[in-house]
Amino acid sequence: MFFQKDIETMNRKDLEALQLERLKYIVDYCYNNVPFYHERLQKAGVTGDKIKTLSDLQYIPYTTKDDIRDNYPFRMLATPMREIRRIHASSGTTGKPTVGVYTAGDLDRWSDQVARLTAAAGATCDDVIQISFGYGLFTGALGLHYGLEKLGATVIPASSGNTQKQLMMFRDFGVTGLVATPSYALYLGECMREAGYPRSDYKLRLGLLGSESCTPAMRDQIEQSMGIFVTDNYGMTELGGPGVAGECELRCGLHFAEDHFLPEIIDQETGEHKAPGEAGELIVTTLTREGMPVLRYRTKDITCLNYEPCACGRTHVRMEKVMGRTDDMMIIKGVNVFPTQIESVLVGMEYVGPHYQLVVRRKNFMDNLEVRVELLNGDLLEHYRELESLQKNIHDRLKSVLGLETKVTLVEPKSLERFQGKAKRILDLRNEPEEN
Ligand code: ZN
Repeated sequence: MFFQKDIETMNRKDLEALQLERLKYIVDYCYNNVPFYHERLQKAGVTGDKIKTLSDLQYIPYTTKDDIRDNYPFRMLATPMREIRRIHASSGTTGKPTVGVYTAGDLDRWSDQVARLTAAAGATCDDVIQISFGYGLFTGALGLHYGLEKLGATVIPASSGNTQKQLMMFRDFGVTGLVATPSYALYLGECMREAGYPRSDYKLRLGLLGSESCTPAMRDQIEQSMGIFVTDNYGMTELGGPGVAGECELRCGLHFAEDHFLPEIIDQETGEHKAPGEAGELIVTTLTREGMPVLRYRTKDITCLNYEPCACGRTHVRMEKVMGRTDDMMIIKGVNVFPTQIESVLVGMEYVGPHYQLVVRRKNFMDNLEVRVELLNGDLLEHYRELESLQKNIHDRLKSVLGLETKVTLVEPKSLERFQGKAKRILDLRNEPEEN
């Protein structure tokens, strides 16, 4: 299913010509309307007319999260506030939130981008879709809300929480699709099983999950427990929220909305461009945003790009699922550790659930990683030998994936915290006073 077929299947030559035209425009637009960019671009000697090919992008300076933070809240705006129709913000885990602003045109294009990815995932105007993302400043809920309405689907703005009511609406309203974080979908699936209604009471078939990482094994588990087909999509507040990229039904990468967003992959240390297929940090330039355009934004997400045409007919470049964030990456005893690596070990294993917590401590100037893993069945706690062998099995697999010694602790079913938004799985106690 296509939402804007002519654009989504445009041949690469025409697509690149469109990108070049828009890039030249947005560079001048930033130069003329955002003092921050005026100064940066002037210093770098870059204006729209100096850009002759897409590779001239390399002369444009990067924009970082710190740049956006330093210009909080509205100094990156390219239009007067009276042109702004909506303000979103992401929860800043440290300090001030990141602000996203939208003109009327931005809101219109945003819902096009989201409608496009939901159609690519298989949603149609016959779907009834429950949005179980938390509403509010977060871009996810309202982004999917307006995108799905534009597609023509029926939208239920359920928000997160009150799980029994969520399940009741699934049954009573004939819900066919769910929008949620993977960890909340997993929890809803668990609750569905416990509620005990027959599968035929549910019409669920589609899960548009996002806003946190989801390994293939975790996805399988969600699909089995809820009887749905799950796709992933990608976006962030700095780039306007969801709608940047999304999986088609073939699930072989996330199609970038390349007419709106220009992606690059660089080596995060040297800044050199990576060849297609090589992993590195994703850099994105917004080509059509009016309220708050960004040039060469350093997403800190590690991924790679695939320019081969997709069997679905879409020509827009496919991005691999994000492998990790340069941010979330923990450095333990000098080894880079991504939570997704630990997830990939746990989710495929028998006897353990997908819920886990990572605790990092420092003792005698040495880092120690404890992996707390929740058992699926509490009976196992009575069987010391089996418990021990499971513990060793997890330890050994983690060691081969991470190249690191960990302490594995098996905990009772449902003893770890459940998350309705983004899961917070890392407890870093390295700056706490040492335990004796
Ligand atoms: Zn495709």
